[in-house]
Order: sequence, then structure tokens, then C-alpha cells
Amino acid sequence: MNGPVLVINSGSSSIKYQLIDPDGGEAIASGLVERIGEPDGVIGHRQGGIDSEHRGPIADHAEGLRLAFAMFAEAGMDLTTAGIAAVGHRVVHGGEVFYRPTRITADVIAEISRLSALAPLHNPANVVGIESAMRVFPDVPHVAVFDTAFFHTLPAEARTYAIDAQVAAAHGVRRYGFHGTSHEYVSGRVAEVLGRDNAELNQIVLHLGNGASASAIAGGRAMDTSMGLTPLEGLVMGTRSGDIDPGIVMHLRRSADLDVDAIDDLLNRGSGLKGLCGVNDFRELRRLIADGDEAARLAYDVYIHRLRKYIGAYLVTLGRVDTITFTAGVGENAVEVRADALAGLESLGIEIDLERNVAKDRSARVISTDSSRVTVLVVPTNEELAIARAARSFAPDGAVEQGQR
Ligand code: AMP
Repeated sequence: MNGPVLVINSGSSSIKYQLIDPDGGEAIASGLVERIGEPDGVIGHRQGGIDSEHRGPIADHAEGLRLAFAMFAEAGMDLTTAGIAAVGHRVVHGGEVFYRPTRITADVIAEISRLSALAPLHNPANVVGIESAMRVFPDVPHVAVFDTAFFHTLPAEARTYAIDAQVAAAHGVRRYGFHGTSHEYVSGRVAEVLGRDNAELNQIVLHLGNGASASAIAGGRAMDTSMGLTPLEGLVMGTRSGDIDPGIVMHLRRSADLDVDAIDDLLNRGSGLKGLCGVNDFRELRRLIADGDEAARLAYDVYIHRLRKYIGAYLVTLGRVDTITFTAGVGENAVEVRADALAGLESLGIEIDLERNVAKDRSARVISTDSSRVTVLVVPTNEELAIARAARSFAPDGAVEQGQR
């Protein structure tokens, strides 16, 4: 079936959606349902280049989807007769069970729910989104695409934490990695853009958005990544701390009398750039720095320091690196982050071309000099398209016939 695919990314109080043509890659419509369960709900919808908005209370995810679908109809498209081939759902944690796109059944939903212990902020919201969408579209395949899947192949030494092995095994404690759909898509695009065989490339991918992660990829196989058991580990993010001494958790528990939920909240929502200087958006951060705000300056310096640490680690992990690629909101837009992350690394064969770096160009492109041994790129990520393509393969005459798991 050649119809479009509806991609749904359901968060705890929001739903991002996109109706996408998996062949051409363009978004036919997209939108964001926000503040579900609060009195001031809002839906922003874009279709055919025209924006529309709905304001008012949105009781739950099912109502959010119903209202969003009504906005499709108002803009001239009845989704129930639009020939939708499949619905693709972004699911954050696939644990050890799910490592490829999976057709959703009652058993799969139960398993995703069971994995909520590993992703309490994300998996329950994903399940609510799946169940709501399955009620609206009972007759098309619903497919879960897992954020952890690409990192399923991490070598044992990269995925293992040095803690008591029995405790780790009993509780599923290992490094899973996240943003996998983006790392896989972007590294594949790098090979396309350079006209090279992905199997021959050693790549570092830096996904720098509100959440941020780095990966080391050899010939298409993920060798290491900065996020771990949860998306909290690794780089400094908008509101997450990234790496900290785990002793800080015990110290705060004992000295600040914070319980586990309060520490969880502190590290996930009140840390990172926001914790350091009060803002998590890079555009605001740059404005504060320009105004001489010292906390903002320090936040930026900590961010860059951590990023450089991971780049250094992955240069050694891979031994030979062919490409370093920036993607996601910060990586695609913040020219100074790219320049500062790779400044002074000429002796390692990394030379950014400062003019190419600042060029106003939204397409995938090279920003290193012609003589740079390592090719540096900016590649826009498109997780929705990757999810749409994976989901479409499950449609009745989809490209690939895949198993349940
Ligand atoms: P993402 O999670 O990939 O959607 O990225 C969101 C983040 O990208 C925002 O919080 C901003 O910090 C950053 N961002 C988006 N646009 C720009 C821009 N034009 N310049 C700098 N940072 C940006």
C-alpha cells in the first residue's frame, strides 16, 4: 500500500504527529498537542503550508488525537479515508527484547509497559499514545520503532557497567543508548551525501538537541554511545545533567534530605543548561552570554568541555575516524557550538572551514576544509521519516516482510 504513514511521538503531556510520504520524504501535515490534562491545552497544526491552532482543555491523549484529526478534516483531509498505510510510533525503551521495528499487538503493548521500570518518564506515555491511535485506526498496522534499537549491537565492554554483575543482571542494568533512530538515519545519510559505502566508514555522530547524545559507529555498527540505562547519562543537555559522580545521588539523599523522585526531577528537569543558568534554549543562552551573564558563560563552557571529552574518547575508541557529524536543533543551528567543539584539533586531522560552517544552508553538507583528513558534516536529522519508512514496511505490500520482533 503506497499511502502515507502517520507517525506519532507521544510524551507524558504532549503528542507530536506527522503525516508523511515515506517515498518522497515530505511531511504532508504535522502538529503538536500540548498540555494534555491541563485547562489550557493547545494544538498547533500545519497542513499545506497553512498553520491552524486549537485552544481549550484536552482531557487525555485520546481526546488530543481526536481533536488533531478534526484539524486535518478542517484543513480538507479525512484521515479515515486518506489511505493511511501504517501508523509508526516512537517508543523510547525497548530493553533487551525489542531491537527492530515491531508490529504492535496486545503482547507487545504489555511488554512495552513492563519496560516502564526502565523508562518511567517515557514508556507509559508511549503506550497511552499507541492505545489511543489503535482505537482510531483499528485496521492498519501499528508499528513500534524503538529509540534503543540501533544500540543493540554495542560491544559487551561498552554496554556493561562495572557494578556487581548479579545485581546488574537481575535488574536489567546495562547501557542501552537512546536517539538510536536519529544516529542510524544520520550516519546512513552521511554515507549517501559522501557517496561512500557505509560499511567502510568510521563515524562520530553528535545529536545535539534539547536531549543530546554522541555515538561511535564503525561500518554501520554502533560501538559506543553516551546515553546509558536511561537518557540521563552523557552529554550536558537542556535540562539533564549528563554524567555526574553517582556519589552525588547518595550525598543529596543524605545531606539535602531529597527523596528519589525529587532527585530524579532535579537531574532530569532542573539540571543541564537550565540548572546552571536558568535557560535551556540555546538561543536564549547566547543572548544571556552576549549580555555578559557569567552563569550562562559557564554553562556554555561546561557544555563544550563535556562534548569535547566525548569526541576525544570516540576518536580513540574508533582509532580511525572518517566523519564527525552534527545534527538536531543545536547541532544543525548553533554555528559556535560546532566551531568550539572542534577548535584546535588540526593535529588530529580535523579542520573546520569557518565560512562553510556559517553558511545559511538547511541541507546536509560538509563544513570541513578540503584538506581536513576527517570530514565534518551538518546533517539534518529526520526521525519521523525513518520511523515512517520502518512502519511502511509492515503495510500489506510493504517493502520488507518482518517478524513480530
Ligand atoms: P531538538 O530537541 O532537536 O528539537 O532541539 C531543540 C533545541 O535546539 C532548542 O532547545 C534550542 O536550544 C536549539 N535550537 C533550535 N534552533 C536553534 C537556533 N536557530 N540556534 C541555536 N539553537 C537552536
